[in-house]
Amino acid sequence: MIAEPEQILRQVFGYAAFRPQQAEIVAHVIAGRSGLVLMPTGGGKSLCFQVPALCMPGLAVVVSPLIALMEDQVAALRQQGVAAAALHSDLDDDARRDIRRDMAAGTLKLLYVSPERLLMDGTLDGLDRRELALFAIDEAHCVSQWGHHFRPEYRGLRVLAERFAHVPRLALTATADARTVDDIRDQLSLQDAPVFRGGFDRPNIFIRAAPREQERAQLRSFITRVSDGRGAGIVYCGSRAKTESTAEWMRKDGLDALHFHAGMDGADKRAHHRRFARGDAVVMCATIAFGMGIDRPDVRWVAHTDLPKSPESWYQEIGRAGRDGLPAEALLLYGAGDIALARHRIAESPASDEQKRIERQRLEAMVAIAEAATCRRRILLRCFGDDLEQDCGQCDVCAQPPRLWDGTVAAQKLISAVLRTGQRFGVAHLIDVLRGRLTDKVAQFGHDKLPTFGVGKDISEPTWRGVARQLVAHGALDVAVENHGELLPTEAARPILRGATPLMLRADVIETGPAPARERERAPAVSSDNPAFDALREWRKSEAKSQGVPAYVIFHDRTLAEIAERMPADLDDLGEVPGVGASKRERYGAAVLEVLARG
Ligand code: ADP
Ligand code: ZN
Repeated sequence: MIAEPEQILRQVFGYAAFRPQQAEIVAHVIAGRSGLVLMPTGGGKSLCFQVPALCMPGLAVVVSPLIALMEDQVAALRQQGVAAAALHSDLDDDARRDIRRDMAAGTLKLLYVSPERLLMDGTLDGLDRRELALFAIDEAHCVSQWGHHFRPEYRGLRVLAERFAHVPRLALTATADARTVDDIRDQLSLQDAPVFRGGFDRPNIFIRAAPREQERAQLRSFITRVSDGRGAGIVYCGSRAKTESTAEWMRKDGLDALHFHAGMDGADKRAHHRRFARGDAVVMCATIAFGMGIDRPDVRWVAHTDLPKSPESWYQEIGRAGRDGLPAEALLLYGAGDIALARHRIAESPASDEQKRIERQRLEAMVAIAEAATCRRRILLRCFGDDLEQDCGQCDVCAQPPRLWDGTVAAQKLISAVLRTGQRFGVAHLIDVLRGRLTDKVAQFGHDKLPTFGVGKDISEPTWRGVARQLVAHGALDVAVENHGELLPTEAARPILRGATPLMLRADVIETGPAPARERERAPAVSSDNPAFDALREWRKSEAKSQGVPAYVIFHDRTLAEIAERMPADLDDLGEVPGVGASKRERYGAAVLEVLARG
């Protein structure tokens, strides 16, 4: 062994202690053994292989699916004084030669490589001749056909176990889904290796969900509240077209918004990715194709404008917020149409019955989270087998418990309006009938003559929409999504009509709400009233710009905030700040002290 792990952690990365799981995993790998790491985004997976790589003799090979991700990690490592390089198809011959030379000289410690590059004969032959410390397989869920990030080239990684049997393999992912985990173990020959499972809670992410009533107004007030012109945000949209239109209105609204989806060409994707990584207060409007490779620790918020198809995907997507551990927020907007559409898609997909059953289960779990009347996080974490001891206090339901009301009679009125109008109308018209509005359409069909006309005057229009949506979620009504969105009663409507079971409904909270007091109390150490912090950020910005790297690879916000707080007097004091390793102290110490002195 070249060095002790704790020593590397302190000197190179500037951190005082491992997180509980990290210490165990690092020791395991250094002992030469393989394993699978399941940790939420932001849990600290990278150090699990980076520290062993620096403790062990030989080269550590890190398989990574995205060029942008590789390059940012390599840039961050180099800032820390670590000899790292990324090998991928975008390199020119010179760059490739340099890497080969450093490998031959034994000076390179970490080589990031795309799976297709790694599996080329030339690369594998080259590795045969080197002393290897370990293989890290990042984003290991890409190997699984079950997930939506399946990358066929990952399947080829099987050869590592055969060809380099004595080199430990560490697979890492944030996906905890049991099926995916089985698949990873299978495909990467890790059947006998231990699984290290980190707790899946991300308590710094405040989560909320609301019916989508006026999407843009809701998004706007959410963004205004959660972002203070720093850090980035992501809006996940259900379609490619919507990513573009959303980004467009946001730009008109004065936000620095971009779009991202799988239909863009490679160069555009990379350019948008780069701008997202480097800009301040950038908003990315994206489909779920935007995910891997978001290494930015200061994504402050994630919003969904359509219902995600499973708790797994939702959690993975919102997990991209707040990796720096500072407060972040997630908002889910959804409607009855989303629920119905997702159900229909599953029903009509060509998948096997077994697969459909699984997808339906996942979808219904997601619907239950969206419609929750009790702590959302408890319901969410239960999907991953994590039981919270108590309500989280960090979700909208905990912060503002929704009022429940007996909606039995209202539900009966709505269902009977559906039946009496011949099951041919959508929710807007049905509400007109219930509220007794004599529109042209109501008159045209003679619906003002029905006994249900005007029986629901006492209930507001948004509340009626809430009743309809909750009946859809409950499965008592279906929406003919492929048609004109007419509401159709199902078998489950019968007991409600009979009044056999009382139906408790939640009073919707449309407002994306002020941050609850509790959250404000814990609000970031990153506060705008510290001029030293602002000065340090300014300095970092120009430093990052001149080096052409993302700002956070120089110092995280959290580190700058800590520096501004402590006001270190000299280099030794500065070295004590978490996140300031030896290399950064050497490189930036004088400049940082100067900024503070000027303050
Ligand atoms: P993941 O890859 O699991 O999403 P990262 O490896 O990017 O997470 O780590 C998330 C954040 O936590 C990073 O900012 C990292 O520097 C920080 N971090 C990781 N381990 C520690 C530690 N032991 N002490 C302090 N900060 C840590
Ligand atoms: Zn809660």
